[in-house]
Amino acid sequence: MSTRIVVTGTAQDAGIPSPGCSCRHCTRARLDPKSRRFPASIALISDSAEVMMVDSTPSFPEQWAMLGHLRLAGICLTHAHMGHYTGLMFLGREGLNSSNVNTYGTASMTRFLAENAPWSQLVNLCNIQLHSVSWQEKVTFGGDVEIQFFPVPHRAEYTDTAGVLIRGSKKTLVYIPDIDTWEGLDEGTAELIKKSDVALVDGTFYSDEELRQLSGLRSIEDIPHPTIQNSLEWFSGCNTQLVFTHLNHTNLGLDAKVENELKKRGARLAVEGDTFWLS
Ligand SMILES: [Zn+2]
Ligand SMILES: [Zn+2]
Ligand SMILES: [Zn+2]
Repeated sequence: MSTRIVVTGTAQDAGIPSPGCSCRHCTRARLDPKSRRFPASIALISDSAEVMMVDSTPSFPEQWAMLGHLRLAGICLTHAHMGHYTGLMFLGREGLNSSNVNTYGTASMTRFLAENAPWSQLVNLCNIQLHSVSWQEKVTFGGDVEIQFFPVPHRAEYTDTAGVLIRGSKKTLVYIPDIDTWEGLDEGTAELIKKSDVALVDGTFYSDEELRQLSGLRSIEDIPHPTIQNSLEWFSGCNTQLVFTHLNHTNLGLDAKVENELKKRGARLAVEGDTFWLS
């Protein structure tokens, strides 16, 4: 048995191109579909062609089409920011009209969906079946992987935020699309992340230089994401394969010259279709 993990989205919540933006990255993505990036998500695909998605984005229809003719068995949700769960709308009767898709999240995430329209309609009409998952609990999938949620510091207007550890028979992959700061993690979680074989993590912004170029920012401290440069420091000395996702349209790493520099440091940007095997 060998479940594979396919990257189905690599951009910050709004995707690239970002609506109304005419920066060089957004312009390129409008002219060249290959440069287009969907909001961050991944899909686990089992030998029996069942899919577990991690996050459900506004580009769900395109991302689902990318995977081919498979069966949607479940969805794990990291938190309730716009780009990470609103793809659930396509499971309703206006779309897939799915039946009891297992939907996993922390207690605050599942409560948010159960108690707020229009999401509560998906629950009431049994399009999705909610499962509240604690930090210690493991969700099994495909007969050969376990998925474990862990707490991540990130602004919590509606729900807390989870990262997921995916453990296969030989390797582990951590997926953290959104995090405010590496330093805010508890010690055990930090160790778990640094010991993983693959870390597919928040790379929203590339560097302090990029943040200075963005207009309207009072200071770098206002930005609630570690830059890719910060993350390279935090992971230095680890054997983890470092891959960045959740890229903002301004990300300097989207320029070939900067991306080559990143590759020299042993890391890279994720692309849609990237596949990881954990067996
Ligand atoms: Zn996000
Ligand atoms: Zn742009
Ligand atoms: Zn977020």
